[in-house]
Amino acid sequence: MALFPIRTFGDPVLRTAAQPIDEISSAIERLVDDMFETMYEAPGVGLAAPQIGISKSIFVADIGEGPFAMINPEIVELSGEWEWEEGCLSVPERFWPITRPAFARARGLDLSGEAVEYSGDELLGRVLQHEIDHLNGMLLLERLSRRVKKQALRELRQEALGMPIT
Ligand SMILES: [Zn+2]
Repeated sequence: MALFPIRTFGDPVLRTAAQPIDEISSAIERLVDDMFETMYEAPGVGLAAPQIGISKSIFVADIGEGPFAMINPEIVELSGEWEWEEGCLSVPERFWPITRPAFARARGLDLSGEAVEYSGDELLGRVLQHEIDHLNGMLLLERLSRRVKKQALRELRQEALGMPIT
């Protein structure tokens, strides 16, 4: 297994839609092992492949109920509303209250290539939405209100340039 550096805001791979996986090879199995190791080390509750620079449609997650991986996942159902202080390993040490649907159901493949579904409220629902956003090339910044997003981008860009935040 290997630890990967986590790509952060500004890296174009995070803004690129991930490619679907058409064969679950041993390389994909190794990738999943590495993603779990990187996620637990971070630590985080979810990690999408683009976050380690690999533009493939796969994420891993563990919200404390056991690890799982989804290949080529898509959201098939959303309902309700829930506000949560959401963060992202690719935008380190920042959290914003973000309202999203409380419940999410996602459909994809497991590591054997079998169809699999995960669904849940609150934290699980949030992780499914957040990770699948990553696979669509979207960061949580896109889920902020216009005003908050503008301010956040300004701070992140200044930080990237090593300038003081005013
Ligand atoms: Zn994230």
